[in-house]
Amino acid sequence: MRARMPRNKLRQIWPVGSPKVMTGRYWEDKPLAALDRAQWESLCDGCGRCCLNKLEDEESGDIYPTNVACRLLDRRTGQCSDYRNRFAQVPDCIRLTPARLKELDWLPPSCAYRLRAQGLPLPDWHYLVCGDREEIHRRGMSTRGWTISEVDAGPLENHIVERWPGEDA
Ligand code: SF4
Repeated sequence: MRARMPRNKLRQIWPVGSPKVMTGRYWEDKPLAALDRAQWESLCDGCGRCCLNKLEDEESGDIYPTNVACRLLDRRTGQCSDYRNRFAQVPDCIRLTPARLKELDWLPPSCAYRLRAQGLPLPDWHYLVCGDREEIHRRGMSTRGWTISEVDAGPLENHIVERWPGEDA
């Protein structure tokens, strides 16, 4: 005779590789590489901090962020003022792609692309989450209010910031 497990002791065993729960939020449900063009573009939080100049220590490789913005950056909105023609105007501007994200270790820790590449959720101030594009500015996470254009800044060495806004000490 075979022993039978009482029904109230049965437990469900999920099959390996069972689908994860869908949230209805494409930025969480889809891997970065599966986003379509519009969805990929929409992930950008508009912080503008990837458009700030950085200095790299040639010996240690350490990266030092500055508060000096690319001349094309609208520092109030955090948006490129000539996004369509940015590569013609600024030849060393970089196109973000899922494949390149691994190399770009200088992106700010809160960059939406960086977070999603690490499988982390978007912050509560991201407009896709809170529905308000101004929230990022109110929280001090964008380039608004503390940056200067490279047109006016002078030597970058004079503009090193201790850490990114929102980054732990
Ligand atoms: S740092 Fe990331 S999220 Fe912020 S503006 Fe640049 S690409 Fe967009």
